[in-house]
Amino acid sequence: MLRLLNVSIRYGGLQALSDISMEVDAGTIHSVIGPNGAGKTTLFNAITGVARLSSGTIHLDGSRIDGQPPHVIARQGIARTFQNVRLFGSVSVLDNVLIAEEARPGVVRGLLPTLLCLPSALGAERTAREEALRLLDAVGIAPHAQRLARTLSYDDQRRLEIARALATRPKLLLLDEPAAGMNPQETARLSDFIAELPSKFGVGILLIEHQMRLVMDISNYVTVLEYGRKIVSGEPSEVRQNPEVLRAYLGGRTAERALGTGTHA
Ligand code: ATP
Repeated sequence: MLRLLNVSIRYGGLQALSDISMEVDAGTIHSVIGPNGAGKTTLFNAITGVARLSSGTIHLDGSRIDGQPPHVIARQGIARTFQNVRLFGSVSVLDNVLIAEEARPGVVRGLLPTLLCLPSALGAERTAREEALRLLDAVGIAPHAQRLARTLSYDDQRRLEIARALATRPKLLLLDEPAAGMNPQETARLSDFIAELPSKFGVGILLIEHQMRLVMDISNYVTVLEYGRKIVSGEPSEVRQNPEVLRAYLGGRTAERALGTGTHA
């Protein structure tokens, strides 16, 4: 579904990404790991059109997307969450999802029909609310639909953020460190939740995460970056055994513990 070919990004003298080729298959979870500064977020910025490629190409379902502005790429089916939760804290949980639904391709609601309360506008609004509630139910926070988003617990805010991304009906969902700041219990719940997303919503997932247990538990495929270069990619069992990963990612015994038996890194 997503194919990067020889993608490089340079910032002045710094090579943030160097000749990266990788693919994400539909309905799978592909994780990107690597030390701080390895280029993971830059990779997301490249895919979403926020960062311009110095060279290389990116295709989504066979269509070239690099060089297009971020909103055009988003409309082709790529949604993203960020390291820091980004919600409209002072509006309801339900409204957060409704606002995201408006960004979906093909949704154009005229102001006049809405102001005049025409049946077409009311019908569309009812359908949108029903869909938003279904989505909140699917991510497990429907009982909180009327609360202000900022009053949700931290892990529920993460769920809402993912619900907002899903409301745009993406083919591909990019999750940037969704477990950041979570305790082990919250991380375990999030892990189960993310693992279900491909089958529940038909999305492929590209995941950046430092929590190794989560990555190794739920990924179909893992790519390891170091200094902007891909050092290895493969199934979690292969990556976890790779001596270069053990050396580069964390080093020595700490790495074996983190990548092997599942102690959180
Ligand atoms: P972390 O795990 O800490 O989030 P990362 O793997 O996501 O790290 P990036 O944020 O992609 O790493 O950064 C890769 C390199 O590119 C770093 O050296 C960073 O300082 C640099 N970099 C990222 N964005 C820019 C920018 N807009 N201008 C200049 N340098 C940048």
